[in-house]
Amino acid sequence: MPVSDYLVTIGLEVHCQIKTATKMFCSCKAGFGYEPNTNVCPTCLGMPGAMPVLNEYAIERTILTGMMLGCSTPPVSKWDRKNYFYADMPKNYQTSQLDLPLCIGGEVPLYSWAFPADSKVKAEGAVVRTVKLDHIHLEEDAAKLTHYGTYSLVDYNRGGTPLMEIVSAPDLTSPDETYAYLKSLQQILVCGGISDADMEKGQMRCDVNVSLRPKGQKELGAKIEMKNINSMSAARRALIYEIARQAEELDMGIAQVQSTRRWDDDLGESIVMRTKENAHDYRYHTCPDLVPVHTASMVEKVKQEMPELPDARQKRLMEQYGLPVADANTLVADADLCSYFETAAGCSKSPRKVANWLINILPPILTARELDICDCPVTPATLAGLVDVVEEGICSTNQAREILEEDLWSGDEQDAAAAAAKRGYKKADSGALEALVEQVIAENPDKVALVKGGNMKLINALTGQVMKNSNPKPNPKLVTEILMAKLGL
Ligand SMILES: [Zn+2]
Repeated sequence: MPVSDYLVTIGLEVHCQIKTATKMFCSCKAGFGYEPNTNVCPTCLGMPGAMPVLNEYAIERTILTGMMLGCSTPPVSKWDRKNYFYADMPKNYQTSQLDLPLCIGGEVPLYSWAFPADSKVKAEGAVVRTVKLDHIHLEEDAAKLTHYGTYSLVDYNRGGTPLMEIVSAPDLTSPDETYAYLKSLQQILVCGGISDADMEKGQMRCDVNVSLRPKGQKELGAKIEMKNINSMSAARRALIYEIARQAEELDMGIAQVQSTRRWDDDLGESIVMRTKENAHDYRYHTCPDLVPVHTASMVEKVKQEMPELPDARQKRLMEQYGLPVADANTLVADADLCSYFETAAGCSKSPRKVANWLINILPPILTARELDICDCPVTPATLAGLVDVVEEGICSTNQAREILEEDLWSGDEQDAAAAAAKRGYKKADSGALEALVEQVIAENPDKVALVKGGNMKLINALTGQVMKNSNPKPNPKLVTEILMAKLGL
C-alpha cells in the first residue's frame, strides 16, 4: 500500500553543546581550536579518585532552556552514571541524568518560517503547531575520535564539556516537521544565548527515531533509530528514505525490528548497525560523587533572564514597524539580520523600506562578496540614511545602490546624504522638472501617442529622456509620476 496509508511517528533526541567557559565537572576550558589534549585534568580524564565539581552556569542555562520551552523544573534533580566502554569516554561511564532530569514536559513551537522552502505547509500565524517534549537533561560530552586508515586519534579536549539533551515525545509526523522542529529549536537556543547551535560545527546534533504503523493500529511500530545526523536537510533526507524503506518492507510482510541504523548522506541510504540496547543495558545508577541539585534559587534567578522569543519578536516587528507578515518572518528567521534591522529602523523614517533593503537589496551584495550581515561594512545608521535619501526623492533606488557599493562600502564615507550630494543628486525643483517633462512630451508626439494608446513600456523611454536632460539627476520614479499625471494616465 502507498506510504500515505501508514501513520508515521517521529521522535528526536537533540544534543546541544552549551556555551560555557569551562567543562561540566572540572575547571578545564571548554571550546574549540585548542591543541589536542591540552584542556584536560585528572577529572575529565577519568583518573581514579578525581572528584567532579558541578558547573552551576551550565545548570542554569539548561533551566533557562526549559523555561523558554515551557518545561517544569523539579525541585530536586540528580545525577546518574551511564556505564559503557568506549575510547572516547575514559571513565567508562558518562555522568548523565536518568529519572530526575532538570526539565520535564514542555513543547517546541514549529515556526511557520522554519519549514523547508519547498514545503507545502502554509500558515497565517507564527506558530504552526507545538511538538511535545518528554524532558531535557544535562550530561557531559564524549571526547572526539578521528579515524584514519588503520588507527584512530582521540582528543580529550571535548570530553566533559556540558551537553544538553532535548528529548521530544514521539509527536512529529513528517520529515518537513522534523526540519522545522530543528530549525525552530535552533533559533530559540540562539535567542537565549544557550548555544550557537551550529550543526555544521557539531554544536547541535540529533538522533532521529521513526516508526510506521498501518492506519487504524493503535500500537506504535518498531522504533528505528538513526544516530548523529548533522544537518537539518540531512535529517529530512534520512527520514524520507527511511519511511519509504520501512513502508516497502512492511508491504512485503517483513516485520521491522527495533534497531539502530547509520544514515549515509553521500550514498543516500541507511545501513543497519545493531539491534537497540535498552536503558537497563547501561546499568544506570545514581552518581555517588555528586549531590542532587536543589533548583528553586536557580529558577528564580533565571526567570529574570527570559528573552523575547522569536514568535513574540515577529509579532512586535509587525506592530512596532508596520511590517507585513512575510517581511517580519524573513527577518525573525535570521537573528543577526533582525538585530541589524532593528538598529537601522530606529534611525530611519521608513522602517518598512529599511526592511525591503535588508531582505531584497543587501543580501545579493553581501553574497557576491562572501560576507555575512555581521561583517557588513556599512553600519545600520548609514544604511538607514541611504534609505531616507531615496524616500526623500533625492535619488532612485538604483542610484542609491551605486552609492552603497561605490561610496559607502569602503567605510570612508558614512553619510549617505553627503555621498548623494557629491554625485550631484538633489531633490528636484518640481517647477523645473515639470518644464522638462513638458518639453519631452512636446518633442516626442509619436511615443506619447503610443503610450496613450496603452504601450506602457514606452513610458520608460520618455522618463529616460527627461533624466538625460536633467542636471542634477532627479528620482526617476518621480519623473514617471509627473509624466503620467501630465498625460492624464
Ligand atoms: Zn578537566
